Amino acid sequence: MPSGRLKKEIRLKGIPASPGIAIGPGYVLSGDSIKVDATPIAPDQVETEIELLLQSIEKSKADLVELRKRAEQSLGEQNAQIFDTHHLMLDDDLIVQETIQRIRENLETADHAYFQVIGHYETSLSHTDSEYLRGRSSDLVDIKRRVIRHIQGKMPSALSKLAEPVIVVAQELTPSDTVTFKRETILASATELGGRTSHAAIMSRALKVPAIVGLGSGLQSIRPGDLLVVDGNEGWLIVNPEPQTVAQYRKQLGKFSAYTQKLAQIRDLPARTRDGKDIELSGNIEFPEEAVSIGEEGAYGVGLYRTEYLFLTRDELPTEEEQYHEYARIISILGDQPLIIRTLDVGGDKLPASIHIAPEENPFLGVRGLRLYQPNTQIFKNQLRAILRAAVNGQVRLLIPMVTTVSEIRFCKQILREVMDELRTSRIPFQENLSIGATIEVPSAAITADIIAQECDFLSIGTNDLIQYSLAVDRGNEHVAYLYQAFNPAVLRLIRDIIAKGHQQGVWVGMCGEMASDPLATMVLIGLGLDEFSVSPISLPLIKEIIRRVDYKECENLAEHVMKCRTVPEVEDYLRNILRKKFKDLLYCQIITKPDPG
Ligand code: PEP
Ligand code: MG
Repeated sequence: MPSGRLKKEIRLKGIPASPGIAIGPGYVLSGDSIKVDATPIAPDQVETEIELLLQSIEKSKADLVELRKRAEQSLGEQNAQIFDTHHLMLDDDLIVQETIQRIRENLETADHAYFQVIGHYETSLSHTDSEYLRGRSSDLVDIKRRVIRHIQGKMPSALSKLAEPVIVVAQELTPSDTVTFKRETILASATELGGRTSHAAIMSRALKVPAIVGLGSGLQSIRPGDLLVVDGNEGWLIVNPEPQTVAQYRKQLGKFSAYTQKLAQIRDLPARTRDGKDIELSGNIEFPEEAVSIGEEGAYGVGLYRTEYLFLTRDELPTEEEQYHEYARIISILGDQPLIIRTLDVGGDKLPASIHIAPEENPFLGVRGLRLYQPNTQIFKNQLRAILRAAVNGQVRLLIPMVTTVSEIRFCKQILREVMDELRTSRIPFQENLSIGATIEVPSAAITADIIAQECDFLSIGTNDLIQYSLAVDRGNEHVAYLYQAFNPAVLRLIRDIIAKGHQQGVWVGMCGEMASDPLATMVLIGLGLDEFSVSPISLPLIKEIIRRVDYKECENLAEHVMKCRTVPEVEDYLRNILRKKFKDLLYCQIITKPDPG
């Protein structure tokens, strides 16, 4: 591009993997910059190449010991364990022997042979349906680069040596790349590949570096030094932004920093309305390490732990022991704060490799959530055993997903009793008084919430599914997304009735669906008497701020007005106007104003 010519602003949409906004020059990390020479070696070089390979593997292992130490200090033991997996891969005898064979038989150089062998495994892993195995493919890339750099005597990734702050752009980031991030020099990252659950995404969240993943091939047009804006809240990457775009994001960035600093001050204060009503404010997590970050954002405990991620991130069923350790770890992080563990909720769009669910015409109306427990009782029992054992030390409650009928709750309680009897007989210590709750996310359960409440200790409203099932809108179908309306009067009435019915039966009612994280809904839900909000980590500070700045009485009046509205725009306009007046200082906040930069 001739210098002086203005570059066009390009907006790319990806998956927001770690929140925050960053503006800065792009640093393009060339994905596979490794070049290997295919020229055959002389036969008398074979032993030297094999020796070089083995030495390089040893050096790589030494690197990993160092990286693990660093990861443990900055990211905690759990994240550091990724490098144990790398160690195992380096030690894999099959890989080493296949490489040696290629050196001997094909007279390949050590780097060429290793590149070919790992490349073969990498390709087969990256084509599986399992998210977990695809994740392992990027681990293989990581060790391949490391060993080959040692064979070639080249310095490892320059990420740790950057002098100026940059936004890292890459096809995919490996865990070793991410662990070398220094907060001062890495402003953000943007990658073509990867999902929210890839290790690099998890590490970015743990490091609080904004990140977008899954941006696709559009990233290839980015040149080193191009000015970039990363909006990790919404998943937008803006390449060569116009001056007014930069100005707009700078303003947002300034406000975002001021706002996060301001909200950080209320972190340890209670989620209590001005007139003294206490609201339980907890966080939603998918992984144990998030229990730490929700605490940092001011949550009191976990209102929804989606345990299925333990099943979705591996190819074999997690054993009872593995589950026990995972649950015990969260309990030790939370201390005496509550932990609501939702039992396995797969089916629909979440299909673990280790559980067979026959293909279905309508998976969201099929074998989902607790419907899986009857045909797979042992899987359910193992999970209950692990939870009951771990719960000895914590404030654990059990939440059952996808309840449709009261008989299903009875079935789950029956299995729970059986498991308790088994543990008792084996003299294994467990929690005798485990509260049990039902997720109310199916219209039949909402309508019969009073009957279900009689069988339970609490109810938790799963609005993500409740909206989809009550409005007949597939939550993942963009063509009907306009109908996916949290503020539809039908949904609002269901929520009002669930809370009232739960309270009539003397049980508390929480909400773990995303509506609890929507600031537009906070006052309505308080007014309807919701006892607990379980919120996604990024929304925690804002929801707490809103709770602390309103009166319960005013929320009741507001909810009364909202319940009389007939259409979604009527509700939303009314709420937006109130929020604009009441929370002027938060108005920039995208979640309230919802500007769409696309
Ligand atoms: C819900 O449906 O609101 C919910 C919290 O569960 P999930 O999003 O995991 O289906
Ligand atoms: Mg659900």
